[in-house]
Amino acid sequence: MKNITILGSTGSIGVSTLDVIARHPKKYSVFAITANSQIDRLYEQCLQFKPAYAVMADAQAAQKLKEKLTSHGSDTLVLSGVDGLMEVAAHQAVDYVMAAIVGAAGLIPTLAAVKQGKRILLANKEALVMSGQIFMDAVKAHGAELLPIDSEHNAVFQCMPENFVGGLSSRGIKQIILTASGGPFRDAPIESLAVVTPEQACAHPNWNMGKKISVDSATMMNKGLEVIEACWLFNASVDQISVAMHPQSIIHSMVEYNDGSILSQMGQPDMRTPIAHALAWPERIESGVGSLDLFSMGKLEFNKPDMQRFPCLQLAYDAMRTGGTQTSILNAANEVAVEAFLQEKIGFVDINTTIEKVLASATHHTATSLEIILDDDKQARRLANEYINSITSTSQRQAR
Ligand code: NAD
Ligand code: MG
Repeated sequence: MKNITILGSTGSIGVSTLDVIARHPKKYSVFAITANSQIDRLYEQCLQFKPAYAVMADAQAAQKLKEKLTSHGSDTLVLSGVDGLMEVAAHQAVDYVMAAIVGAAGLIPTLAAVKQGKRILLANKEALVMSGQIFMDAVKAHGAELLPIDSEHNAVFQCMPENFVGGLSSRGIKQIILTASGGPFRDAPIESLAVVTPEQACAHPNWNMGKKISVDSATMMNKGLEVIEACWLFNASVDQISVAMHPQSIIHSMVEYNDGSILSQMGQPDMRTPIAHALAWPERIESGVGSLDLFSMGKLEFNKPDMQRFPCLQLAYDAMRTGGTQTSILNAANEVAVEAFLQEKIGFVDINTTIEKVLASATHHTATSLEIILDDDKQARRLANEYINSITSTSQRQAR
């Protein structure tokens, strides 16, 4: 029996993880679940899965959850804040940690699990984008097992030679090809992007995901973050990672070898496949995902990404080439801009202009410590907010 902590259990990945776990009650037991502030959802999950711990990042929400659970006679202990998240990620009773908090908030609790040498099921790509070198060094130093959940990286992992620990060329690998659906606006007239709504941006054609990653998919910043994530996970240079638009999302990614072979992993676009793969690895278990019907699948298409339509993808490539904390700056500016877009403070195309401005004006550093990374994350958030305030006050003046 493996004991599992799910960081971000109320989110899209968290719910899919619980769905897979519930299919295998003899193999996996839920040790802890966590959420930011969604009390009712976490409460229901506590009643269903009876974890030893439930953690809410928000202290007031934790207090309310505690009262609800106590009055129901539940034995689940409630903790709060980052300390609580770290405690359940690092707890000695835990075998596997699903890192499925969205954004920079996932970094510290995930690192706490890495430092205890757990098996990490990594969905939180922002952690690697921010602290790639430090994160991978810690994985090595503490003997953690890192399994990618992001569907592309999980596909690449499955197409890699056995016991791959990095060094693409020494294993006969030419390049990694990440596939990208292109999101909801891949065919929309470019002029129309200025007026698209958060609702339209979140309506992904193939995947059902949290709001932040849905907007990231619409701008293709998601693919940019994934290029950076792939560099760290597979010890590859940014020039060894290419992106192919593949609107059907059936091929989840590919690895090209020197002899002309390209290996790919295919399946339904359903995150329960990579989750089940990483839970059971190197075994295979049922995930609840149905077979891919090859005969009704139709055509599979591949196109080059259009960097004019998707400037965020180029910004991510450039940030990775610059290196150091530039990728943390990119990530933080993106988080602030996406949140402002979701709150309808800025338009869709203001997301990439905000990130561009911040990257141009922030000072980046060599990423030698977590403090330096977090300082530059703060710097970028401040600059992004300043820029957003400047454009929103200009547009308010114009409206008057
Ligand atoms: P989501 O928004 O649906 O869920 C996020 C979870 O994180 C929730 O449980 C929320 O309560 C928690 N959370 C949010 N802010 C927090 C904070 N400050 N402190 C503690 N907890 C907090 O997001 P998601 O779509 O499940 O994505 C989670 C992560 O997985 C992201 O990094 C995303 O990029 C990655 N990912 C998601 C998918 C997908 O299909 N959804 C695919 C690949 C990768
Ligand atoms: Mg992905």
